[in-house]
Amino acid sequence: MDLATSSADIESIVVTSEEIQNRINELARLVEKDYVDKNLLVIGILKGAVMTMADFVRALNIHIEMDWMAVTSYGSGTKSSGVVRILKDLDRDITNRHVLIVEDIVDTGLTLSWLKSNLESRGTASVEILTMLRKPEAAKVEVNVKYVGFDIPTEFVVGYGLDFDEKYRNLDFIGVLAKRVYS
Ligand code: IMP
Repeated sequence: MDLATSSADIESIVVTSEEIQNRINELARLVEKDYVDKNLLVIGILKGAVMTMADFVRALNIHIEMDWMAVTSYGSGTKSSGVVRILKDLDRDITNRHVLIVEDIVDTGLTLSWLKSNLESRGTASVEILTMLRKPEAAKVEVNVKYVGFDIPTEFVVGYGLDFDEKYRNLDFIGVLAKRVYS
C-alpha cells in the first residue's frame, strides 16, 4: 500500500504537519527555560515517540543527552491495563539526573503513571513528561503531564509515529483512522 492510498484511510486530519512543527518549537522554548544548566536526559518511548523525539530534540538550543525505553502495556484489545513490562531498558544509571520522558500520546495515562514511578524509584533528581497528544481520559489518572502538544478528542488516531498494526507511523500529520480499517 502506498502512502497516497493509506492517506485515504484517514477520516479527518486532527493536527497538520505545520501545526506539529510550530507546537514543537513552542514546547522547546519552555523546556530550554526550565532545564538550562541541568544536564537534561531526554528519554524517548519506543516506538511511537520516535518522530516527536527526533523533531523535539533538534528544536532544543541546550545541550541534552538522549536515551530510549520500550515498554508494553498488557490489556485487552486497544485498552491498556496499567500492567507494564519493560522490553528495552535505559543504557545508563539515572541517579540524580533530571529526566524528561517524551511520549506520543497519553490515553488512560496508566502506562506513563507506571513509568514515572519506575524512573523516580531509581533516585532521579526529577522526572517530567512531554507528550505530543493527550486524550480526555488522561485527566482521570493522577499523572502530571507538564508539557502537552495538543489535547484531542477520544478517537483512534494515527500518523507522526502513531500506528495501527505497525502502519501509518510515517505520515507527517496526525489523523483519525477510518473505522472501516479496523472493524
Ligand atoms: P495509556 O495512556 O496507558 O492508555 O496508553 C498509551 C499508549 O496507547 C500510547 O503510547 C499508544 O501506544 C497507545 N495509544 C493510545 N491511543 C492511541 C491512538 O489513538 N492511536 C494509536 N495508539 C494509541
